[in-house]
Amino acid sequence: MSSERLFDSIREQSGDTEFYLPMPAGYKPGSTKFVAVFGTVMSGLGKGIFSSSLAKCLQDKGLAVTPIKLEGYLNIDSGTLNPFRHGEVFVLDDGTECDMDLGTYERALDQDLSRLNFCTSGQVYRRVLERERTGGYLGRDVQMIPHVTGEVKNRLRELAVASKADVVFVEIGGTVGDVENAHYIEAMRQLAFEEGQRSVCFVALTYVLEPVILGEQKSKAAQLGIRRLLECGVQPHIIACRAHTPVTRKVREKIALFSNVPPERVFSMHDCESVYLIPELLRGAGYDKAVMDWLDLQPRVDEPTERAAREEWTEYLARLRSVTREVNIGITGKYTAVRDAYASILKALEHAGTGLLCKVHVRWVDTSEFTDETAAETLKDIHGIIVPGAFGVRGAAGKIACLKHARLDQLPCLGICYGFQMAVIEFARNVCGMQDADSTEIDNECRFPVINLLPEQKEIEGLGGTMRLGGYDVVVRPGTLAARMFGPRTRLRFRHRYEVDPRYIAQLEAAGMIFSGKSPRAEIMNILELQPALHPYYVGTQAHPELTSRPLAPQPFFVGLVDAALRRAYPEYQEPLLYPRELDDAPVEPPPPATPQERRVETV
Ligand code: GLN
Repeated sequence: MSSERLFDSIREQSGDTEFYLPMPAGYKPGSTKFVAVFGTVMSGLGKGIFSSSLAKCLQDKGLAVTPIKLEGYLNIDSGTLNPFRHGEVFVLDDGTECDMDLGTYERALDQDLSRLNFCTSGQVYRRVLERERTGGYLGRDVQMIPHVTGEVKNRLRELAVASKADVVFVEIGGTVGDVENAHYIEAMRQLAFEEGQRSVCFVALTYVLEPVILGEQKSKAAQLGIRRLLECGVQPHIIACRAHTPVTRKVREKIALFSNVPPERVFSMHDCESVYLIPELLRGAGYDKAVMDWLDLQPRVDEPTERAAREEWTEYLARLRSVTREVNIGITGKYTAVRDAYASILKALEHAGTGLLCKVHVRWVDTSEFTDETAAETLKDIHGIIVPGAFGVRGAAGKIACLKHARLDQLPCLGICYGFQMAVIEFARNVCGMQDADSTEIDNECRFPVINLLPEQKEIEGLGGTMRLGGYDVVVRPGTLAARMFGPRTRLRFRHRYEVDPRYIAQLEAAGMIFSGKSPRAEIMNILELQPALHPYYVGTQAHPELTSRPLAPQPFFVGLVDAALRRAYPEYQEPLLYPRELDDAPVEPPPPATPQERRVETV
C-alpha cells in the first residue's frame, strides 16, 4: 500500500483508531526522503561529524538537505547545561540554545539552522502534555506509543515542510539500548512504515574493536550493537564501521552476515587526519551512492558542478596542510580542561589561520593564578590572546589583569562577551580612574557598575532561555577598524544578560575607548576597539563571533586577531594588512546618543 493510501485509510476510519498521526499542514507523505543515523556500541563515535559529512556529499550533488538532532535529555534546550560536562552551548540565529553538533552541521553545510533542527525529549513531552491539558487527545489515555512517537514524527515532518529539503538527516542521540532514546528509535521505525518504501534509509554507526593485546579487529561488539537495533524492529540498510584503522574485508563480511546487510553496504569509517577528509572518504567508499540508490534519488547537478563543490573543501584542506607560519594564541578561561567547551572558538581560529596560511597553536592560560606580576612571564610566548565568554565571578580578576597586560604590551587581543565586559572594566579602572568599576554580575554593590543588567533582564525570572539570545544586527561606526572589517552593518549572535551601562559610555569614550558597533535600535554596545595609534589590535565584542565562522568564510574578528599575531611573531611579515590602517588620522565621529525611547524598543 502506498504511504498516501495508508494515511487515507486511517483517516477514513472512525475516531477510535490505534494510529495517531498528527500531520503538519502542507506535508505530503512519501515526498521527503529521510536518512536516520543510529549509534551502536558506544557514544563518542562522531555521529554528528559522520552525519554532516554524508549530508554534505548529497548537498554537493545538488540536493537540498537539512539536519535534525534528536536529543534524549529532558531539558527543553541546552541553555541550562554546563559546558564543562556537555561541551559549548551553541546558539542559532533564532536564539535557540542547542547542542554543539548543530555548529558542526552549520559549518559543514554552510547553512543557518533554526529551532526546527533541534529536538529534545523535553520539547516532545512538553507538547504532548500541553495537548493533553487542552483536551487534544479526545478522551484517550496518553501513551508513549502512539502519542509521544507521533509527536516525534510530527517534528520531523514539520522540518520537512519548513525546509523544503529533499533529504532530512536525522541524528538519533545516544546509543541504541539507552532507555532515554527508545521512543526516537520506535518513531523512526514507524516513520519508515508510514512513509513507504525507499523513503527512509537507516544507517547504523558502529564500532570495531582492535585490542592491542590481540592485534586484530574484533566484530562482536558491533554485531551485538546492531542486533540491539534489529530487536527494535529497525533493519539497517547501511552500516558504517568506526575503527582506528581501515576495517578489513573479513570483519565487514562477518558484520554483514549477522545483520542482513549486504557486504557492499558495510563500510569502513576509520580515523583520518582531518574532518575535511571525511566527505571524500565517504564518497570514495561509495556511501553516497548507496544512500542515493536506496532512496531512489538522482543528482540534481552535472559532474563538473559537483566536482567544483567538492573542490572547495579539498582546496581548504590543501591550504590547511601548506601553512607556512605559526602563531601561539592564548585562551583564558575556567574550562581549561575541556576543549569542547570552546569548540567553536577553536574552529574559528582554524578557519582564520587557514585563510592566512598560518598554523594556530592554542595555549590555555589559567587565569586563577594570573596577576599583574605574573602576566609577562605567563604570556611571554603568546602572540595573541582571546578572553572568551563566561558566567559568574571565578577568574574575573585574572582576566582583567590579562587584558591590562595585553593593552599595555600591545599584545593582540580579542575579548568575547564576558571578555568584552572585562575589557570595559579594566579600561574604566586603569584609564578612567574608576577604581571601583565592576560588573554587577560580580559585585552588585560596586560604585561604578560599568557593566550592568540589560533593562529587560531586570524583570525576568527563571534561567532557561531568558538571556538576550540569537542574531541581531549591529550598526558599525564609520572610520573605525570594525567598519573596515564589516562595512556599515553586520549581524552577530548573542547570549548575555549584562551590557555596558549607557551612563558610562561618554566617559569611556572620552578616555579613548571606541564603541564601534552598537545595536541599531537600542544603545547596547556591541563592539569596542582602541585607536590603531594606541594598539595594533585590541578588540572586543559583546557577541559570540565564533558561532558564525565558516571554513570558507572565516569570521573577521578572528582573521584580524591572527593577522595581528602574525605581525607580532614575524616582524618581517609584510603581507598587506587585511584592514588597512591608513585612516589613523581620521577622527572617529561619536555616534548620536540614543534616546531613552530608543533603548526600550529593541525586542527581537
Ligand atoms: N555573564 C555575561 C552576561 O551574562 C557574559 C555572558 C557570556 O560570556 N556569554 O552578560
